[in-house]
Amino acid sequence: RELPADPDTRNAPRQVAGAAFSWVDPTPVAAPRLRAVSPEVADMLGIDPSGEEVARVLAGNATWPGMTGYAMAYGGHQFGHWAGQLGDGRAIGLGEVLTRHHGRQEIQLKGAGRTPYSRGADGRAVLRSSIREFLCSEAMHYLGVPTSRALSLVSTGESVVRDVLYDGHPAPEPGAIVCRVAPSFLRFGSFELPSARNDVALLRRLVDFTVATHFPHLDALPPAERDGAFFGEVCERTARLMAHWMRVGFVHGVMNTDNMSILGLTIDYGPYGWLDDFDPEWTPNTTDRQQRRYRFGHQPGVGLWNLQRLAQALAPLFVDHAPLQAGLDRYVEVFEATDLTFWSAKLGLSQARDDDALLIDDLRGLLAAGGVDMTLFFRELPRLAICAPRLETFDGAFYEAPRRAAVEEGFAGWLARYARRVRDDDAGDREREALMHAANPRFVLRNYLAQQAIDRAEQGDDTGVHELLDTLRRPYDEQPGREHLAGRRPDWARDRVGCSM
Ligand code: AMP
Ligand code: MG
Ligand code: MG
Repeated sequence: RELPADPDTRNAPRQVAGAAFSWVDPTPVAAPRLRAVSPEVADMLGIDPSGEEVARVLAGNATWPGMTGYAMAYGGHQFGHWAGQLGDGRAIGLGEVLTRHHGRQEIQLKGAGRTPYSRGADGRAVLRSSIREFLCSEAMHYLGVPTSRALSLVSTGESVVRDVLYDGHPAPEPGAIVCRVAPSFLRFGSFELPSARNDVALLRRLVDFTVATHFPHLDALPPAERDGAFFGEVCERTARLMAHWMRVGFVHGVMNTDNMSILGLTIDYGPYGWLDDFDPEWTPNTTDRQQRRYRFGHQPGVGLWNLQRLAQALAPLFVDHAPLQAGLDRYVEVFEATDLTFWSAKLGLSQARDDDALLIDDLRGLLAAGGVDMTLFFRELPRLAICAPRLETFDGAFYEAPRRAAVEEGFAGWLARYARRVRDDDAGDREREALMHAANPRFVLRNYLAQQAIDRAEQGDDTGVHELLDTLRRPYDEQPGREHLAGRRPDWARDRVGCSM
């Protein structure tokens, strides 16, 4: 309510100028059914998930007092090109909750029906992609990666037609709605849109609002310094986010500027995927298989490119552009420092030294060349005998014997260097093990695991979703009895990828 609203309240596709959002209500669905809930998010918001009305409210069929639907306007660069107005085409905000311990939290229904920003599309989401968003946002949170959260997964009782073909025809799929939660869903694209339209007044208001609400520690700075400090902090947060993605093996898949959170959170889970074998070239996005713009290894570079677009968008607010350049430089510094800290923790080193960067780079090269499972490799690392390190420790992490053979010699040299470095480190064995345990997850949302849970849920059996959610809440714990969720990707799942929409 602190931002200018679109005076036009018709729900028809159109360009919305001079406003940050449009009032729009969710379109009710046929038969809402609550399929999964994150108890911690319910608790954070003070919602009793067993309440009678819950499924209806979280499907957009009913509201609680104080809720009013709205869709945000934003633009974005998609795959390197300015795409003009995009906006919340199928996400509808319901309002903010002022929580006791987690500040303000905005709640949003994804798949809640058409908005003025839907263009030609239906405003809906399928169960498959909703399960993926629901599970992954919670998994990321428990891994310690900044992210939007997911409160609930509701199936709508309606079917939606997407890109899955059956006998050559698009097959209807079950529809669903995820209620997602974050302090703000403002994106780089929220600032790019008014800037591209030369609406500096709106741009100014958006920045003022964002700083006052989400960067209050900067609000007292003199106006000339404040905007630069704001951009600098966005750069730092984005740098840390990229370092987190790289440490856990997460590939976002659609890092368009409309999917980049101004708070440095992971948002908009679409065709994301998780690395099994460590492959910097891999992307889960089947529409990006040629260019591979959003491949794993390119994410930090794309983060910088996206911040350059944000800097351009904010430029009209600056007389002197030096603070924008300083922010971009800061991005590179913070990414490199954080990446080094994270990876040396993965290796169990108590403190990163400058020459550890080379040790880490060489390891990344070997992991890629050998096609080694990233999660399994690091989870096995504490078992390595430092007095006589052997590649056999990692036998379970290789997928292909010829690729293992090709890196055997290289690994022998690397393991010897690593062992020397470890012996030289201040940390004792216990401390090193504890460090590795806290830095290297045992459980990540491997693509095939998500797909198995989806297949069962589409048959009405939600136990796979619940089991994954429960397991991924403690990704660093050993969890005996859950070995089947911590194994290597099976051969049949080799070419299974993430899915979009
Ligand atoms: P994405 O690539 O998922 O971030 O989406 C890009 C744009 O397309 C955003 O403006 C979305 O709101 C919009 N969009 C994606 N799917 C749909 C849909 N099914 N209905 C309406 N808008 C959509
Ligand atoms: Mg998006
Ligand atoms: Mg999306």
